[in-house]
Amino acid sequence: MSSVRELDEYFEKLKTDFPIFSERPDLVYLDNAATTQKPLAVIEKLKNFYTETNANVHRAVYRLAEESTMLYEDARKTVADFVGGKATEVVFTKGTTESLNMLAYSLGLSGKYKSFVGPLFEHHSNFVPWQRIAHITGLKFYPVKIHGGELSLEDVEAVVKSCEKPFIFSMTGLTNSLGYRPPFEAIVELVHSADGLFVLDGAQLIPHEAFDFKASGVDFLAFSGHKILGPTGIGVLVGKKELLEQMNPFQYGGEMIDRVGEQETTFAPVPHKFEAGTPNVAGAVGLAEALRYVKNAGFEKITQHIENLTKNAIEKLTDIPGLILYCQKKCHGIISFSHENIHPHDLAELLSRLSGVAVRSGHHCSQQQLKALGVSSLCRASFYLYNTHSDIDKLFYGIKDALRWFS
Ligand code: PMP
Repeated sequence: MSSVRELDEYFEKLKTDFPIFSERPDLVYLDNAATTQKPLAVIEKLKNFYTETNANVHRAVYRLAEESTMLYEDARKTVADFVGGKATEVVFTKGTTESLNMLAYSLGLSGKYKSFVGPLFEHHSNFVPWQRIAHITGLKFYPVKIHGGELSLEDVEAVVKSCEKPFIFSMTGLTNSLGYRPPFEAIVELVHSADGLFVLDGAQLIPHEAFDFKASGVDFLAFSGHKILGPTGIGVLVGKKELLEQMNPFQYGGEMIDRVGEQETTFAPVPHKFEAGTPNVAGAVGLAEALRYVKNAGFEKITQHIENLTKNAIEKLTDIPGLILYCQKKCHGIISFSHENIHPHDLAELLSRLSGVAVRSGHHCSQQQLKALGVSSLCRASFYLYNTHSDIDKLFYGIKDALRWFS
């Protein structure tokens, strides 16, 4: 295990792989839960794809198209290896939101499930689609209450026991609002033993810790490329093959069919039946490069470094009079805060204007979570591998300068 300083120096060197930081040397980017910056390797990969290999996939037999198809399918394999799944279990989507909508519509409209269960701290993309499907289909909708920003296993157990079966349970592996990592491993077993399906929203978890789809036992996993150094517009749904095979497609059109008759159509095998139309080929290839980058950087090092940054930030920010931290027992990579005298939007704007520090402010697409905390808006600083302890200092002094300016 490397020391805090060794890790900081290691990641400071890696920061030079990210051109945005040489273009904007004063930028202190702390909005990584929203999206991450891209290393040159990913940018070059996209450029090379468009300059050397661009063609549609799975359609034509000429050489260029075959090469493009090969790159796309290699990218699928890289994603599968990264999360411990099989290539046939990996569906490319636009992002976590589309992956979760795909599940909500496909599972919800199947008529097989009687109810949906999920915690109130979910990102809207893991809440609203299920709520909407429940309205459309009559599926019973059971939100699980939260305590501050945490979930109690007893509450989950009570809802899981009493809800109508079979049911779907969907939750995040790391909350985007407070950086709370719920004990989802224990809930997977609980859900399975009660005739439920377990869906994991990995949008925040997958960039932050090594994950093994098969070993985890979850039925579905969703995540986004852009939060793990990849391009925007590409994401993933990983699903157990037998479950994907039972599901109806979410969208219909080109390349997802087997045979089209006048009245009936049969569909391509998984995962292709879920990829109607022209996919984001460049995005998939770019995502695979991003995952290779993360793997080479070393996942254990990334997790430890972000843990160190989080601890340092909590210690420093705790010392600022009037600043309220909304960390749960343990925050990972995300710290939400507000100040008793200044609105979060004003604080975020001053941080940017006076100190070049980029933090998010608002409800973080988790209005029910903020309601449970009794607030309508928070500032959020979120870290990724290229952040260093000097960024934490800049955040600390930036908040102090903003408060001085405001008063
Ligand atoms: N779930 C969580 C926990 C998230 O943090 C986000 C993005 N903030 C999403 C889902 C949605 O991801 P995307 O916007 O990439 O579809």
